[in-house]
This record gives sequence, structure tokens and C-alpha cells, in this order.
Amino acid sequence: MFEVVFLGTSASAPSLTRSLPSTMVLYGRHRFLIDCGEGTQQQLLKSGLGFKRLNHILLTHGHLDHILGLGGLVSTFSRWEAIDRLEIYGGAWALERVRDLILGVVLRGARPNLQIEFIEISPGAILEDEHFSLSAFPVTHKGPGCFGYTFEEKSRRPFLTAVAERLGVPPGPERRRLVRGEPITLADGRVVSPDEVLGAPISGARLVYVGDASRVDDLVDEAKEADALVIESTYLQAEAHLAKKYSHLTAAQAATLAREARVKMLYLTHISRRYSGEEVLAEAQSIFPRTVVVRDLDRAQVVKER
Ligand SMILES: [Zn+2]
Ligand SMILES: [Zn+2]
Repeated sequence: MFEVVFLGTSASAPSLTRSLPSTMVLYGRHRFLIDCGEGTQQQLLKSGLGFKRLNHILLTHGHLDHILGLGGLVSTFSRWEAIDRLEIYGGAWALERVRDLILGVVLRGARPNLQIEFIEISPGAILEDEHFSLSAFPVTHKGPGCFGYTFEEKSRRPFLTAVAERLGVPPGPERRRLVRGEPITLADGRVVSPDEVLGAPISGARLVYVGDASRVDDLVDEAKEADALVIESTYLQAEAHLAKKYSHLTAAQAATLAREARVKMLYLTHISRRYSGEEVLAEAQSIFPRTVVVRDLDRAQVVKER
């Protein structure tokens, strides 16, 4: 299960109730901060998440509403040793801008207490461990190097306790070895193989995160049957000409993507001050009912639907 905490949900400029874009994705002990608009530090505190284990920052692109908070965050971290290493992932242009901000403006040659890595990504795998993987995919917005991110739990085979008991496998280390895929030999000399006590693979949850985007037709494959799709929704269809002009999406476009990709839940963010959340929700739900227009500090749990 992934947990998503929407820290900032506004587009371009903050409103009274919405802070600039930033989202935390949690998985076990892992924390990933996606984008870091101005004000993110305070949103982290308000959410109760704080700064702990905030080692991974994923950038969707380099527009200022998505990155300016990194200046303040690094300034705080550089004086406070709770974080010793920060990895910032993004496309070349986003990283160039962030490097200028952090090294040129904030640090100006000072050696901070933390190690900062700027990691240029390309489409494909970024990180994985035995339980989940994180990958990046290209998104069309403005200029090159805009990315979305997919978080996917690996499939697992459930341990069939009743079968194990029938075979006489005692609880404890033998069962753990079988779960790891190793055969065991029982006290009476019989060998039990993992296949005998592990059920069919169960696929894990998949979360697809898109930042700003100007078209959706190139996202259908990536979003296909995702358990959750998070995506921008800056305009309404009545102002589709502005969405096109500024390389953003309308609520209707985002909902059409959700419908075509048959996702399980759609979360809309990057909401303009021009509209109320209700207006955005109404337009999207007329096309894709399972839509939520998120507010700052909303949380969502992403589980595999069966
Ligand atoms: Zn934006
Ligand atoms: Zn943008």
C-alpha cells in the first residue's frame, strides 16, 4: 500500500487555502517528496510528516511553482543535521535550475552538513527494492525533460498456511525460508518445495503520478489500470483555449484519460484560483465518477483493488 499526502495543491501561485505543488508518497519507511513548491516546509510541518527521512525528492519539471521551496528546504537542512544526504531526481533542465538555486543562491560556495546529489533521469527504472519499484516516464508539458513517476508494489505469492500445516511444516524459520523461495527438509527427511506452499502471485498496487501536462493521449499506456492516477487539472473545458495556450490540462481531459486508461481512482491537483473545487469536480465526474479533487493535507491510500 502506498500513502499519498497532498501538501500543496495550487497551480502557479498560492491561494488562501492552497499551497504550491508538493506531494509526499510513503511506502513503508520510504518517503518521496514529489516537487517542492514555495511553502512546502510549512506544509510538511502542518501535515505532521516533518523532515524525517526526507532523502528523496522527485521533480516533475523545472517550473518555479514546483521547485522554489527547495531553496528554503536546503537552507534548513544545511544547518540542521537530521538529514545527511539528499538525492534530487529530475530532467536535465529542472536540475540545472535547481542546481542554480541551491548552489548559486542558497549555498554560494558554503559546504553544507549534508551531501546533495543531483541525479538526471531518463525514462525507465529509478529505484527498486525487494518490495516495490519506482520508474519515470516522459510527460509532454513545456520543453524537454518533464517526467511522471510510477510506484509499483511487486507481486508476491501468499503463504498457504493450511497447506503447510497439512505437510507438517512447523511455524518459524522453516516457513520463512519457504517464503524466501528456498526448499526445506523436514525432521522425517521429506523435502518441501516453495511451490507446494506458495499460492499464485498477487499483483501489488500501482500509483501513477503526473505533474503538469499539456496532452493526455501519450499517457494512456502508462496509466493503464493504475489503482490511482494523480494528475494536474488547471483549467475547465470552457477555457480549453487557455489550457492549450499555457500547456495545461482541463478537468475533462484528465477525466478522459482516467476513463480511457480504466484507472481505479483519479486524484486531481494543481487547481487554479480561477475555479472552485466543486466546479472542477463536477466537470471531471461527468466523465469519470471516481474522481477526487484534492485539498491541501488530504491523504489517500492506494491499495490494489481486487
Ligand atoms: Zn505548475
Ligand atoms: Zn509547469
